[in-house]
Amino acid sequence: MNVLIVFAHPEPHSLNAALRDAAVEELKAQGHVVQVSDLYAMNWKSEVDRADFPDRAAGERLKIAPASGAAFAADALTDDVKAEQDKLLWADVLILQFPLWWFTMPAILKGWVDRVYAYGFAYGVGEHSDSRWGDRYGEGTLAGKRAMLVVTAGGWEQHYSPRGINGPIDDLLFPIHHGILHYPGYDVLPPFVTYRVDRLDAAGFAQAADRLRARMRTLETTPPIPFRRQNGGDYLIPSCELRPGLGAPAATGFALHQRENEAGTA
Ligand SMILES: Cc1cc2nc3c(=O)[nH]c(=O)nc-3n(C[C@H](O)[C@H](O)[C@H](O)COP(=O)(O)OP(=O)(O)OC[C@H]3O[C@@H](n4cnc5c(N)ncnc54)[C@H](O)[C@@H]3O)c2cc1C
Repeated sequence: MNVLIVFAHPEPHSLNAALRDAAVEELKAQGHVVQVSDLYAMNWKSEVDRADFPDRAAGERLKIAPASGAAFAADALTDDVKAEQDKLLWADVLILQFPLWWFTMPAILKGWVDRVYAYGFAYGVGEHSDSRWGDRYGEGTLAGKRAMLVVTAGGWEQHYSPRGINGPIDDLLFPIHHGILHYPGYDVLPPFVTYRVDRLDAAGFAQAADRLRARMRTLETTPPIPFRRQNGGDYLIPSCELRPGLGAPAATGFALHQRENEAGTA
């Protein structure tokens, strides 16, 4: 398989870099072809601004989604963005790797999403009408591919448990899993998260690297998180609300959007 790792850490000797190297080595040993987008090393421009749309007339009010859609349709996005889109189309598996910063991804990686996920490429795909609300959440440009997160966290695993003060890790990662990865079509694998890393010793590193290598060996077979597909019949269109009667009776919020041992859903 072709695997793309989008890597967001500024320090080449960081724990994240060492874990990335372990993952790349294992993937190559398994016969996969790997590309890494090392965003800091690439000096990735993280903010969307007028420079992203050089064809817009000076002084013209910049509206990002239409500008993005027009540039995508005209093949006029900037070369750095087009190169990342080509990598996404090339990759069977996308891995986003980052340290958890303020409960989410570093800004440089968010900026990669903001710029690479152009209108017409990652959103605004498919028919939008009262009976169909686009090709998204399991459908779209990147459907049929797999994606997963590799995350390091300073906090303890218990801090991210269902009753932990930081909030459950699945909830914290939901906007990335569901909103960024499932949205343009990916099947999303459960994340690799390693906790309490700030004073990790050599034995702790060896353990974490072993766990990560094991995940790299099962990229093709790990069952994805069972997110519901928008156009699979579970949602009312155009309100995009989950149909009455679906979801475990006690489920609320993010958990509603996963099929969990539920009869009658595809
Ligand atoms: C701005 C900011 C916001 C943050 N927000 C959060 C948050 O919301 N939630 C949270 O839980 N945490 C948070 N943290 C903590 C953060 O998640 C961790 O500091 C980060 O995940 C550690 O990863 P690293 O690659 O930077 O580790 P590094 O600092 O590079 O290394 C961590 C430890 O691993 C050791 N290590 C062991 N083996 C190796 C090896 N082979 N190579 C390199 N190092 C090794 C290092 O010696 C070091 O002690 C935040 C940190 C910052 C700076």
